[in-house]
Amino acid sequence: METVIEIQHLSKSFGSHEVLKDIDFSVKKGEVVCIIGSSGSGKSTLLRCVNLLEKPSGGQIIYHGENILDEKHDIYEYRKNLGMVFQQFNLFNNLNVMMNCVVGQMKVLKRSREEAEKVALKYLQVVGMDKYVNAKPKHLSGGQKQRVAIARALSMEPDVMLFDEPTSALDPEMVGDVLKIMKELAHSGLTMLIVTHEMEFAREVSDRVVFMDKGVIAEEGTPEQIFNNPTEARTREFLKRTLS
Ligand code: ADP
Ligand code: MG
Repeated sequence: METVIEIQHLSKSFGSHEVLKDIDFSVKKGEVVCIIGSSGSGKSTLLRCVNLLEKPSGGQIIYHGENILDEKHDIYEYRKNLGMVFQQFNLFNNLNVMMNCVVGQMKVLKRSREEAEKVALKYLQVVGMDKYVNAKPKHLSGGQKQRVAIARALSMEPDVMLFDEPTSALDPEMVGDVLKIMKELAHSGLTMLIVTHEMEFAREVSDRVVFMDKGVIAEEGTPEQIFNNPTEARTREFLKRTLS
């Protein structure tokens, strides 16, 4: 399968604090890659570097064969291809559910209002939120907000979806709904890069699991390898801590 994103020797420092060190990994078309690791290990920073919310300090991001950190490359064009779902939803609180899913399409993709609404409705149906088109975010539960945030990202019809701990801010009873939708998306062939602390989910849906520790990729492999036969002591310790 074609490689969509390839990260080479990526590093990121905040001042003298080196948060990411020599990160290498790739995501192929249709693959689901989960990133796991302790809090503070650099998972969010890595995702934010992939979509250029943070500027990497070094290394390369190759997107379909092109180094997008090259001066001549249009970062704005690149970012259109990535959908992002955040832990804290980041919905526009003054806009209703439909408009949350429409504004980006109109502004960035130059779709007409009519077309954007049609696309939005399709993805709101996918996440089971089509009954709530007129609701404002403040009237929704956390799980419902996150489902809208997923529909909003999907409405941009991105090449890759990035998720940063999409269930961490949810009440426990809401987590299952969101994970169920993400599983359906994973099985639909969507390319997904997911930071998660839901180990059962990671084990079930991932093609590959990346374990991060203190700013490096400590181990990477199939879910079978990582969860059943980790080779690194720090992976074993992390799993023991997390699964107990
Ligand atoms: P994780 O998502 O794995 O919990 P993060 O990527 O959020 O880890 O953070 C990794 C490290 O980078 C932490 O030590 C954090 O304090 C630091 N960090 C993250 N963002 C910033 C920032 N904007 N400025 C300074 N330090 C940061
Ligand atoms: Mg994080």
